[in-house]
Amino acid sequence: MIGEPVEEGVGRIAGFVNAYVFEDAKGTYLIDTTMSRKAKPVRKAFERAGASFSKISSILLTHQHVDHISGAAAVQEESHAIVACHSADAPFVDGHQTPRIPAILRLFVHPRVVPVARVLENGDTVGPFQVVHVPGHTLGEVAFYHPERKILFSGDSVVERRGALTLGAPGFAADISKAVDSLQVLRKLDVELLLPGHGVPVRKDIAGQLDRLIARAPKDFLKR
Ligand SMILES: [Zn+2]
Ligand SMILES: [Zn+2]
Repeated sequence: MIGEPVEEGVGRIAGFVNAYVFEDAKGTYLIDTTMSRKAKPVRKAFERAGASFSKISSILLTHQHVDHISGAAAVQEESHAIVACHSADAPFVDGHQTPRIPAILRLFVHPRVVPVARVLENGDTVGPFQVVHVPGHTLGEVAFYHPERKILFSGDSVVERRGALTLGAPGFAADISKAVDSLQVLRKLDVELLLPGHGVPVRKDIAGQLDRLIARAPKDFLKR
């Protein structure tokens, strides 16, 4: 098991931002890559497990934000894995467009661009996952859904904070009203294990928690 064991074949590389490793008979998938340009937390997790980056088949990016993608170039160079992200975020990941990074973050984070070998659209299949486009946090935000195992890697479309699900960093959202609408898309999925970009894995009453978030979201996030 690479990373902190969550369940069979699923490891969490925990930190301010989470990366995850999903392994099945067909491949090893790294979901997000942490904010370290050298992907240090990812490297440590692999080293501890006695595994090398060469076993990674795909690097799946939930969205273009630097806290999730900074390690992608380092991992890709060493693993030669395919990097996949949504078409709306791909130009910012591969350097065709410059992302708007908050000034404070720019002091600490110097992301490296990485070629995107697989550009994703809603409904695509990547490895064992369905690509679920949940725009708002960024316009190319996606969640990766494993329908047989009912596992959802939610990126920042929904995150865990203080024991509850909430929107990821609403202040940084590209389009907050789209982010709120995308909660309905997540709600339609049958999820037993939700693995967020920030916070801890969630198993308890995911549908109920989403319902409560959807109910309070217009008042909490859309008010001017
Ligand atoms: Zn983000
Ligand atoms: Zn984030």
